[in-house]
Amino acid sequence: MKPSFRDAIVAIATPPGRGGIGIVRVSFGAATSGQSNALIAALCAAPAGFTLAPRHATLVALRDANGALIDRGIALYFPAPHSYTGEDALELQVHGGPVVLRMLVARCMALGAALNVAHLRLAEPGEFTRRAFENDKLDLAQAEAVADLIEASTEAAARSAQASLSGAFSGAVHELVDALIGLRTLVEATLDFPEEEIDFLEQSDARGRLLRLREKLAVLFERARHGPLLRDGLKVVLIGAPNVGKSSLLNALAEAEVAIVTPIAGTTRDKVSETIAIEGVALTIIDTAGIRDLEQRAGLSDTDADAATVERIGIARTWDEVARADVILHLRDATAAADRSDSEDYRAIAARLPAHIARRTVVNKIDLTGEAARKARDKEDECIYLSAKTGDGIALLRAELLDIAGWQPTAETGFLARERHLAALRAAAAHLGSAATHA
Ligand code: GDP
Repeated sequence: MKPSFRDAIVAIATPPGRGGIGIVRVSFGAATSGQSNALIAALCAAPAGFTLAPRHATLVALRDANGALIDRGIALYFPAPHSYTGEDALELQVHGGPVVLRMLVARCMALGAALNVAHLRLAEPGEFTRRAFENDKLDLAQAEAVADLIEASTEAAARSAQASLSGAFSGAVHELVDALIGLRTLVEATLDFPEEEIDFLEQSDARGRLLRLREKLAVLFERARHGPLLRDGLKVVLIGAPNVGKSSLLNALAEAEVAIVTPIAGTTRDKVSETIAIEGVALTIIDTAGIRDLEQRAGLSDTDADAATVERIGIARTWDEVARADVILHLRDATAAADRSDSEDYRAIAARLPAHIARRTVVNKIDLTGEAARKARDKEDECIYLSAKTGDGIALLRAELLDIAGWQPTAETGFLARERHLAALRAAAAHLGSAATHA
């Protein structure tokens, strides 16, 4: 059966696993509106006529088909349109055990069939938010921000997602659109009355309006442009010979931070990658020595073909991540001659690194040579001289990484815009720019 917007949908809203509280949500589609009270009455084996007061927490006993208690919990009823989805909605908060929650969902489905709650079915992923969008509770930018807020791996990303979710981004875009429509109306009206052209446009300050519109668009773009970076973070690869100080550098970068963030969605947290936050930008640091370890292990475990296959898939994935790196940090030991760090291992890895990725040479252990921490150019190489041990020069490296990422601190909270939004803003700026040449 094709999922329909008219169906009632049910799902466990809390993450898999055990927790103090687990939540089951039901949203009643157009065809089933008004049946929430019948469902909750049946769930509680309550007498006919039982109703929940809207938006009030009510302690209820939820029972299975035989009247045995599944769990006692809180029931909340949100009548349409004042719910997340804009539909009649029911929220059941019980103890957060996976079995309890599954029993409750199964009981809802069985009752749905028995009570003829048309097509009560399991929700598809994201379907509650989709309904909120389709019922005009959220616009598309806000609906996307829901996912971004949930996925946020740093505080800055969460704040930006929240700004988009609460409609500030959409509001700013709509404001621009309104101003643009106003301007367009003015110009089109002038086209209809060509004899008044000059006066009309000048009187209404069309040029000034266009200029202000372009300025506002530029400000909005500035606030949005870090969006993809905040969401996806910056992928940094550390390469260098053994003992050059890769782990120490990783620790030095991480230690300077209060928050060690969780991995960005889509990256695996394993021995070879670590995620830290600098100024709210998530940095996933991949240590290629780890890749080498894995490769050696995969080679050794040929006797166990399955394990070897799994490891090889893991290595291939890690290399895929390296290929998508934003920055490569090549570490050198300040006490060693430059060519000594050019070991076979290093060359083997370096040969596999894509040439278009930004690279910096990190000359580590300057505390042993007495050199000053600095940024300098050595032939083709941009070098950062530092000591992972004393922390001297770490700030320089952090600033360099943020610089490569195009990060500039702003006083205002940004918007967690997506590439698609940025492309649209860029296109709008280009059109306004071309309009300005005719103004
Ligand atoms: P890796 O093999 O590249 O990960 O290197 P490690 O981070 O494990 O460092 C190797 C050795 O160098 C350790 O004994 C560290 O304490 C030492 N080391 C790392 N960075 C520095 C540094 O900046 N100064 C000094 N003096 N020693 C360092």
